[in-house]
Order: sequence, then structure tokens, then C-alpha cells
Amino acid sequence: MSTDPFPERVVARKLCQQKGTINSTVSISKLQRFSEYLHDQDGQVTVSLLFDRDDSGLRVVQGQIETTVRMLCQRCLEPTEVEVVASELNVTLADSETEASKIAEKFSGPLDKLEIIVCEEGELELLSFVEDELIMSLPVVVAHEDKNCNIELNVIQASSHSVEPAKGNIEGLEVLEKLKIELQKDKQK
Ligand SMILES: [Zn+2]
Repeated sequence: MSTDPFPERVVARKLCQQKGTINSTVSISKLQRFSEYLHDQDGQVTVSLLFDRDDSGLRVVQGQIETTVRMLCQRCLEPTEVEVVASELNVTLADSETEASKIAEKFSGPLDKLEIIVCEEGELELLSFVEDELIMSLPVVVAHEDKNCNIELNVIQASSHSVEPAKGNIEGLEVLEKLKIELQKDKQK
């Protein structure tokens, strides 16, 4: 598959008129903000975008941005491979903040489905767009598939009779509450 060189900035207005597409790759090392979340900067991001107009004539960008990166496993602190995919992108482009708020006002669907980008002079900073979409698609929890990747941690958990992590907070709160009550009793003495 041949890919075009990655354009860091595009004239979105023109691309939308022409139903232009971008099928390209960009090196992760060019994405400085995204790289901060990663173990290293090796790898490529695949960008497949279609610029178009929707039924109401608004300029939209649709498509997918994907990559595979290495992030630190939160269990053992060793790198693990993570797929980051921003799929079914559907972003509306606006010329100004004013136009963006007008689009938002008219939008009838769920607001969390609405993504608007203001393009100064009709231009889209493609590089930072790609970066933003990837950062938003990062997993909340990063861990090896193998739950036993941190043997030391498993030993600690097995020996401490601790409750499951999900209940941990509640148990912790209960302990705090008890402490408070006991402290108050002490004061009253
Ligand atoms: Zn791990």
C-alpha cells in the first residue's frame, strides 16, 4: 500500500469540497505530546481520513487513526504493547468559535458525540489533531494481559488477606469513619 507523505497542516475547506482523503503514516517521534505517555517513540501512526460535507452542509472529517505503542504496565512497571485506536471519527470543522457554538446549539444528538474543531483560516493542524485524538483514545488502565506479570506483588497480595481492590476504597472509608468516631469519643472523655 502506498501512502502519501504526511501533511502536518491541510486546507480543510478545500479538502471537504473535493471529498479529499488522507491515507498516510506519521512517525510517533513527531508527536511530542503523545510521546509523553509512552515508554518509547518507536513506531508509526496510520491515519485514514475522509474530508466531506454532511447533510446540513457542515464540513466534517471522518475516519480512523491507529497505532501500536509501548506503555508501562501499572502492575509490574515493565513495557507492554498497547493498541491505540481512534475509530469512527466524526469531527465537525468550524471557521470560528462563534460558528462552533452555533453548531453546538443546533446539534440534537448526545453532546458527548459532538466534536468540533475550529480551523483558523480554513486550515487544520493535522499533526496536533492526530495527537489529540490519540491522547483521548489512550486506555485508562495499562497492564499486561498476564495478570501474574508482577510475581512479587502477587505474593504480597496473597499474604496480606487484603480485600479485592474494588472494595478497598469502601473498606478504607469505613475504617476512617470508625477512627473519627473513636476520636470524638476520646474528646468527650
Ligand atoms: Zn506487567
